[in-house]
Amino acid sequence: MKYLEVDRLDQIPGHPLRAGEPFHFRCHAGLSCFNACCRNLSMFLYPYDIIRLRHCLKIDSDQFINQHTDIVLRDGHHFPDVLLRMADDAARNCPFVTPAGCSVYAHRPDACRFFPIERAQFYDAQTDRKTDVYFFRPPDFCRGAGENRKMTPARWIKDQKAMAHARLTAQWADLMRLFQDNPFGAEGPYGAKAKMAFMAAYNIDQFRAFVLNSSFLRRFQINPALQAKIQTHDLALLELAMAYIKYVLWQMPSPMLGHRRKK
Ligand code: SF4
Ligand code: SF4
Repeated sequence: MKYLEVDRLDQIPGHPLRAGEPFHFRCHAGLSCFNACCRNLSMFLYPYDIIRLRHCLKIDSDQFINQHTDIVLRDGHHFPDVLLRMADDAARNCPFVTPAGCSVYAHRPDACRFFPIERAQFYDAQTDRKTDVYFFRPPDFCRGAGENRKMTPARWIKDQKAMAHARLTAQWADLMRLFQDNPFGAEGPYGAKAKMAFMAAYNIDQFRAFVLNSSFLRRFQINPALQAKIQTHDLALLELAMAYIKYVLWQMPSPMLGHRRKK
């Protein structure tokens, strides 16, 4: 998901769509292109993607990051991105693709779930308004666009069970926009604050251990129901992590964190 300035719509390749506008698409194993889209990708993984994939693979988030991702700092960025590591073969296949399709289908990442739709959020700094837009962008080899199944972006999100992804990725895009103002200062992207933010966002099992085993619960007045929930509920914990990052880096208050306790 991209954060775009309001005047850049015409510079984005692909056909722009509003949530209710129709497009035609159907993907199935009978198409000659089956699995062709699961190779040679530069696929960004968002925090919720890692939660889902590591759950599917029954490994912890630390293991997932070590085994399946590459962490990159793009030019002009202040916070690293996480890419799914492709297989080290000529085709650069996705590690989860099989002849029968995606082996992690129920937990597939945001980008695969929305494909061939891409989402962007236009941010108007003057009004502080955000507007969701969608782009229909099947690659040339993709035969799904020739199938007679009418969809709209809003229906596609439901059809692909992508509601939680849409919500959490939008929250994450908000944070990525804030990172662009470099909240890390002289410490830079490898300093203690950036490492903390990376751990909270991407390494959910480490963040849980940090919350439960440090002074975190003494420092913040987290309500008892949420305290109980985050013991096992990754999605609630991720939302707490994003609130914590905003508090630590920009001192933004959040009802999730309650009031900070006095020492
Ligand atoms: S290329 Fe398009 S139609 Fe073919 S398998 Fe991938 S998403 Fe489906
Ligand atoms: S995660 Fe699944 S759908 Fe996504 S690229 Fe890999 S095999 Fe394809």
